[in-house]
Amino acid sequence: MELVISMFFFLYGITFGSFFNVVGLRVPLKESIVTPPSHCTTCDRRLTLVDLVPVFSYVFLKGKCRGCGERISAIYPLMELLTGLLFVFSYLHFGWQWELLVALLFISMLIILTVSDLTYMLIPNKILLPFGVAIFIARVVSPLTPWWDSLLGAIVGFGLLLLIAIVSKGGMGGGDIKLFLVIGLVLGTLQTLLTLFLASLIGAIVGFIFLRKTKQGRKTPVPFGPSIAVAALIAYFYGSQLVGWYTDLLS
Ligand SMILES: [Zn+2]
Repeated sequence: MELVISMFFFLYGITFGSFFNVVGLRVPLKESIVTPPSHCTTCDRRLTLVDLVPVFSYVFLKGKCRGCGERISAIYPLMELLTGLLFVFSYLHFGWQWELLVALLFISMLIILTVSDLTYMLIPNKILLPFGVAIFIARVVSPLTPWWDSLLGAIVGFGLLLLIAIVSKGGMGGGDIKLFLVIGLVLGTLQTLLTLFLASLIGAIVGFIFLRKTKQGRKTPVPFGPSIAVAALIAYFYGSQLVGWYTDLLS
């Protein structure tokens, strides 16, 4: 039975992931997420059912548009697969607790923001706000212990990022600052601090690899959002273990 439910969560996840790609790509352009129907951005060919099966279509079509042969970015099937895997993982991690709702909302928001940030270097308010409200409500239903740790986490996350933005004079985007408010709500104070630490670490590694790849050393800005998303999920699922190991090391 567990296997059947897991399969169900996976299929749900990749289907939602496919929708999250559309949302992440269209919302920053102020386009409707319903119309026009999905089409190839190069030749405008309308996508049919064969093109729209999450993950499988990409593999089946070998990553190319059936109309014009233009390559389709591997980001989309990767995001679908990732959403599927994270949905299953959340179910196996929490079971049928209210926290599962927090997890699914949090993952959904982070996936959409990653698509937006990778594509446009933008974390849109139109995503942060509705998800922020939904996550706040889910956090009231499934509170942290103590409950006020959510509020403190939100204040600390927002305040700290704002401070970094002021000190670094625009080195941190407004979207990143607001994102940390939502992260604070979900994770509480300690794990929010851990997220910031891990995100900086991941960001530094990604930046290093990226700089080495573009040999001329051109300063192309690398979006910070995806690093924050990965860090937040590590802190969410494994934060207390990580903090536990660290304090064991010190004692
Ligand atoms: Zn095409």
